[in-house]
Amino acid sequence: MPASDETPFWKRLTLEEMSSTQWESLCDGCARCCLNKLEDWDTGEIVWTAIACELLDDETCRCRDYPNRHDFVPDCIPLDPETVRTLTWLPPTCGYRLIAEGRDLYWWHPLVSGDPETVHEAGISAAGRTVSESDIPVEEYEEFIVAWPGEIPETEAPKG
Ligand code: SF4
Ligand code: SF4
Repeated sequence: MPASDETPFWKRLTLEEMSSTQWESLCDGCARCCLNKLEDWDTGEIVWTAIACELLDDETCRCRDYPNRHDFVPDCIPLDPETVRTLTWLPPTCGYRLIAEGRDLYWWHPLVSGDPETVHEAGISAAGRTVSESDIPVEEYEEFIVAWPGEIPETEAPKG
């Protein structure tokens, strides 16, 4: 049975079919992807650190200069349907990854809750949990390895 127009767009459209506004709204604002990662040269295993990109605002989880970010952070990877399906390190909670894998968005996603704060209230976002890469020498990155960006906390939608 074809999906009706009342079905939310992220359940109805493929990533390629979404408008740019719909595409942008799939980002939940968690900023997990703005954290530095370390890759084991031998195994290829990727681990997360709590060290954030220098442009990340730790309180709001927003990029301080999104339109011009590539002038300062050339390796900030723009997401498109192909990269979403190819990247191995997108967090398991990432809205793009969830839809690319045929899954639904969680209750705390702003598109579902209608509230951009729920991603923070549910403990999904990086807000208040990072240090800036401006303050940490690369040789100390291993001291900041954390697991939470790769985890899905068990959080239920508030009742009532
Ligand atoms: S991990 Fe995904 S949902 Fe979270 S900020 Fe990055 S692109 Fe947006
Ligand atoms: S440049 Fe902005 S969007 Fe890119 S990783 Fe840094 S804070 Fe995140």
